[in-house]
Amino acid sequence: MDSGRIVIFDTTLRDGEQAPGFTMDVPDKVTMARALDVLGVDIIEAGFPIASAADAEAVTQVSREVRRPVIAALARCRIEDIEEAARALAGADRKRIHTFIATSDLHLTRKLRITRDACLEAAVNGVRLARRFTDDVEFSAEDATRTDPDFLCRVIEAVVREGCRTVNLPDTVGYSTPDEIRSFFEDIRGRVPNADQTVFSAHCHDDLGLAVANSLAAIQGGVRQVECTINGIGERAGNASVEEIVMALSVRRDRLPYCTGIDTTGLYATSQLLTRLTNEPVQANKAIVGRNAFAHEAGIHQDGVLKDPTTYEIMRPQDVGQPAGRLVLGRHSGRHAVQQRLEAIGLTITAAELEQAYHAVISLGEHRKAIGDGDLRRIVERVRCPGTAAAETVGSRRGV
Ligand code: MN
Repeated sequence: MDSGRIVIFDTTLRDGEQAPGFTMDVPDKVTMARALDVLGVDIIEAGFPIASAADAEAVTQVSREVRRPVIAALARCRIEDIEEAARALAGADRKRIHTFIATSDLHLTRKLRITRDACLEAAVNGVRLARRFTDDVEFSAEDATRTDPDFLCRVIEAVVREGCRTVNLPDTVGYSTPDEIRSFFEDIRGRVPNADQTVFSAHCHDDLGLAVANSLAAIQGGVRQVECTINGIGERAGNASVEEIVMALSVRRDRLPYCTGIDTTGLYATSQLLTRLTNEPVQANKAIVGRNAFAHEAGIHQDGVLKDPTTYEIMRPQDVGQPAGRLVLGRHSGRHAVQQRLEAIGLTITAAELEQAYHAVISLGEHRKAIGDGDLRRIVERVRCPGTAAAETVGSRRGV
């Protein structure tokens, strides 16, 4: 594989679905999995089969219905978890068992209440058992970024010796900073003797708003798989978002010379599908897929975009499948945008009329979030025929 190729491991259906309010039933998960297949993700983590019958059923059905991507199922380093994951994955063409155990002293002493040696033994046994069901085994050291690096290196060396193909080192609680996580991966890869026999993976959470920045820094530190979700959904503040990582790699190829298998023109539709299935909209200003991601209201910006979109757009809306960039008329708009919109709806006006229409738009914009084409037509009628019925104030018709 091209050394610059980044594997996109999508966990929308597992970590994402785990978040409050984002629960999906089995048919919804299958619908989403099909969309992720079309989008081009490499791996779909479809659920955590031991956690619930619904999770197991979702993994079973996604395994049957979705052929191209690898289907992954999560399992603790326990016999019953791994066997249940293997059962649920039985119908998949390409299956991955993703087994994990926490490695930080905090989690070992407070949560699992086991020693480091017991943790190491569980990790080795988990990977060994999982390997009986598939060659494609991933191991995650939960809370890796808060784990003693010496111990972490011992665990990694041991699981790689068992044939673990992917080692994921999650920033489980979103605590890392970009420069820190980059040197973390560089350091670990440099110290583990058999590091070249596995693919390193990052799984970043957004508690400090750094999940995407940390994922990109991890790539610079040698990671070749990133775990992420559509719209960045996931536990607490969420996971790193697929669309932001993919577009950062695409737009900034000059600084980040890596590629993915994602068809970027499908990003917006996939994001919209998820919002419909979960009934949870994304914020308007969300990067890449938000309603305002390509909207311009300020006059100076509108003027620039009309003259050359690259003045204020670092990517084209069509590159991510968004509808054409919107020039929103409102109280920050400029004359150029008002004129352009009037022409678009078939109204040609004189310079003097434009001046009046522009001021009418600004004053109406004081009361209204956005001004539509109907409002513009009424404004022009009033400008042309002051004193007629059409001249009643547009604002008062809407009871502003
Ligand atoms: Mn997670």
